[in-house]
Amino acid sequence: MTAKTLKLAPETAAKPEIQVSPHSKWSDEVWTFTPLRAGQAQYDSVIRWGISIGDGETLLSPGQETLLETFRLLAWSCLHGHSDAPAKKPPTVLQFLLRLANAIRWMRKNGSSLSSFDSQASWRYLKSQIAPDGKPASISQAGIRHLADALNTAYHHRKAVLDAGIPFLPEAPFDGLPISSSAIQKIDAKEHGWIEPLPDPVALTILRTSIEWLEETLSDIIRLRDELLSLVSKKRALRGTRAFAALRLYEEIEKFQFSKRGEIPWREPITPGSDISYETGKPITRTETAVRALISDATAACVCLLQGTTGMRVSEIAAIRSGIDPKTGLPASIRIRKSKSGLSELFFLSSQAEKIHDGKHLEWLAGMRPAGSDYLPPAILALLALEKLHKPWREMAKMDDLLVSYGDRGRNLAMDASGVSPITSNGILSSCKAFIARQCGLSELPDTIFGSIDLRPYKDGSGFKTHQWRKTFALYVLRSDPKMLPALSQHFKHMSLAMTEQGYIGNDPDLLESIDSARRQRTVQFLVEQSTGLAPIAGGMAELVREQRKSLEDMRKKGNVESWVVESDLRIWFSDYGKCFVSISPGESRCHALGKTDPWLSAHPNYEHRSPSACCGCKCFAVDAEHRDFWERRITENQSILDSAEDRFRPEYRVAQERVAQAKAILRVLDAPPIPLTETNHEPKR
Ligand code: SF4
Repeated sequence: MTAKTLKLAPETAAKPEIQVSPHSKWSDEVWTFTPLRAGQAQYDSVIRWGISIGDGETLLSPGQETLLETFRLLAWSCLHGHSDAPAKKPPTVLQFLLRLANAIRWMRKNGSSLSSFDSQASWRYLKSQIAPDGKPASISQAGIRHLADALNTAYHHRKAVLDAGIPFLPEAPFDGLPISSSAIQKIDAKEHGWIEPLPDPVALTILRTSIEWLEETLSDIIRLRDELLSLVSKKRALRGTRAFAALRLYEEIEKFQFSKRGEIPWREPITPGSDISYETGKPITRTETAVRALISDATAACVCLLQGTTGMRVSEIAAIRSGIDPKTGLPASIRIRKSKSGLSELFFLSSQAEKIHDGKHLEWLAGMRPAGSDYLPPAILALLALEKLHKPWREMAKMDDLLVSYGDRGRNLAMDASGVSPITSNGILSSCKAFIARQCGLSELPDTIFGSIDLRPYKDGSGFKTHQWRKTFALYVLRSDPKMLPALSQHFKHMSLAMTEQGYIGNDPDLLESIDSARRQRTVQFLVEQSTGLAPIAGGMAELVREQRKSLEDMRKKGNVESWVVESDLRIWFSDYGKCFVSISPGESRCHALGKTDPWLSAHPNYEHRSPSACCGCKCFAVDAEHRDFWERRITENQSILDSAEDRFRPEYRVAQERVAQAKAILRVLDAPPIPLTETNHEPKR
């Protein structure tokens, strides 16, 4: 049955037996479709019509027949599309229906309905979602756009409803504006409506724990897994014999020796009650459940490292294929390419995600190393760990997914193919939350930092969203802060270099947008700090920034800094030793002068010739307190070179001497008392 052969209502209403898929009829309470891809749960492929519409009612409640028929007609029209609207897949249609139901709940509460919901009401509805019932905003920027998009989609498919004789939206929502319009964007931007990156102490603790799990506990968990699988199958083989009861899994597993961290094993033996279930909060009394929880934690550690160091979405991770390249010994999903200069090797990761992205082949930069070295970035170590960790179940089910679901959630381990299934995004999220709560020790963090960032929702894992890794990753790449954990600091420094040197961090447009958005946020943060007149600044750009402080202060008071940054497309290029404002005065760029390249064409620094010494002589350069550590280190390192030089050769150590002098000059400016704001009121220059 296709869209062409099925006429929409009123005929459909009279033909409740019409097939909507190989599995379901029009009148069924559940429409079931065939799952489309890896990482997608069966429940993503069904539309259950018992969708809540508020006041304890659903679309299936008596008296809601017209609304139910409206939803079915819209769903059918979306599934098959029309000349102005391409056909959508069942999971997308389900999301649309759920978001439309959200609007229905608001309408019912506010004495409105689909037949009276006009453009004005649509604006009121959207604004109400930012701070529902006066509560603080909890919806993301994307969330607001999705809600707006659901109403626009419903309007695009209105013909299906009107043809059935059902009154429907009297006019286009949001004055007929597209979702990309600035009026709708402003509603998001106004209220921090974006998914926040994970706070630094949270992200760094999770990543540090994940690295420890990969390095120190993974081999134990794999041994434990093998021992348990062998005991369970032995026990099954003994069923019906006297030896069956004699083989007590707990007692066997209790003898398992965990490897030592220092003098003591990294955890106590597994005994009844030694572990707590994240799902129930109660002690775990079954051996298999306890071991399963450890495998789940190890899986989550790998996923956190992958997401946190590549910025991939969780669905893209679920779609990675397994396999090892026999030539390189690396995961088959990895391709190594030389950088343009030939000095570095870049690791690119691809997943089956092209199926998710409408056939577009996407890949992510998973790390970088000096050419010829054998260093493996954290993301590659995580892929290799997952390869081993899920191997028995992958083989049982003859699947090639890197991650699989290996038994009932929170209970048994699968022992044959019937218990193995593709992993779902929700399954990964639950594992990550449990890992964060059980293993990461976040409870030791303070409840808030900087007076306003609330860490409490992260301590029990409940506030964590896998999407936050993307923003966190984008921020780290820009920052490559040496104060981060050494291994990660190096990784992100490499990622940052790869992104800027190669102009390439994969081709995922959303990820690039996230990085751009993080750059914007950091630029705004820098300007706001400078507008107070209290933040010290040194370097060639310092004078111009000081001159503009009054204007910046005015903008800050009016809340216009972000919009000015967006409108003027101001970009700051960050490094651990300072900030580059090449977009403000490209003609002054020293690195481009040294490289004989055109700064107006590239609009970013010339990385080959960029260095602390070159930047110090450049009008585009600024240093603030954020970079103090770098310059202090530079003095210590170069002074120790000078101190160890023999007296007679010391004058020849000119470079070290200049570096010390330069660093001391910068620190003198940073240590000087703040310069008070003047009354100059120039507009900021570009
Ligand atoms: S020399 Fe440094 S500050 Fe100047 S444009 Fe190049 S990177 Fe930017």
